[in-house]
Amino acid sequence: MTSVQLAVASGQSGQMSRQMGDNHRRFLQTMMSIGIVDDHGAKALYQHCCETHNVQCPPDRLDDFIETINSKLQPLFMQIRKGMSEDNGQEHYALVNMAQTDVTRMSSDYADNELELFKKTLELIVGSENGTVSSTDILNSTDSMTTKKLKKSETEHLLSRLVHDKWLNETKGEYTLSTRCIIEMEPYIRTMYQDQVSVCHICHTIVFQCQICENPICGIKIHNPCVARYFKGRAEPRCPACNDFWPHEIPEIRRPRSQSRR
Ligand SMILES: [Zn+2]
Ligand SMILES: [Zn+2]
Repeated sequence: MTSVQLAVASGQSGQMSRQMGDNHRRFLQTMMSIGIVDDHGAKALYQHCCETHNVQCPPDRLDDFIETINSKLQPLFMQIRKGMSEDNGQEHYALVNMAQTDVTRMSSDYADNELELFKKTLELIVGSENGTVSSTDILNSTDSMTTKKLKKSETEHLLSRLVHDKWLNETKGEYTLSTRCIIEMEPYIRTMYQDQVSVCHICHTIVFQCQICENPICGIKIHNPCVARYFKGRAEPRCPACNDFWPHEIPEIRRPRSQSRR
């Protein structure tokens, strides 16, 4: 018997390995309140939930554990989905509403004109070469708003709320999509902007912040953390697609603070 099966031995009939136990429910409840967690946090939470309910938790079974939760979330059009931070390459888990992957999911927290500006920001980021937009460009885009136009101070306030609510990241006046936003809105972004979105040549997921091959007939994009991993230890970096010299500075792999078990 696996630990999951043991965990649910007290549960109802049905597919044993897919039964939710109290440890699964506790994990899910925490995800509902925090929305997103990095892989270290997820492992710690998994361990905590299992210990609290006296269930064994093999460290390498986190993804199975989450699969069990996801099988119960499916009829509710919810899912815990994995994605990578474009900043440091760290894996994250986010609770995603599959029924509403567009910006209307934010309508309980944001007014119509605020959502319009967020959409414009999203458009600017998707249309940019490396996934960033300046606050100046966002402020300028309020001129073309069709809903009630936001004033400068209102726009600034909105941007800081979007950062606080983990939809955007900000560094020195430059805005990027947060990991949460990318994981939750990827299907929406792929559908809405299919001609503009690119996929990372290395990890094949949607890419915003990146390095780009300068060969005009190639032009592949690679996430910065994927660049760091791919070129690590290679004497002369060459494009994995066209073999041209890779002219960019190779970022270092940034180690997350806590140590992984591996
Ligand atoms: Zn990548
Ligand atoms: Zn190339």
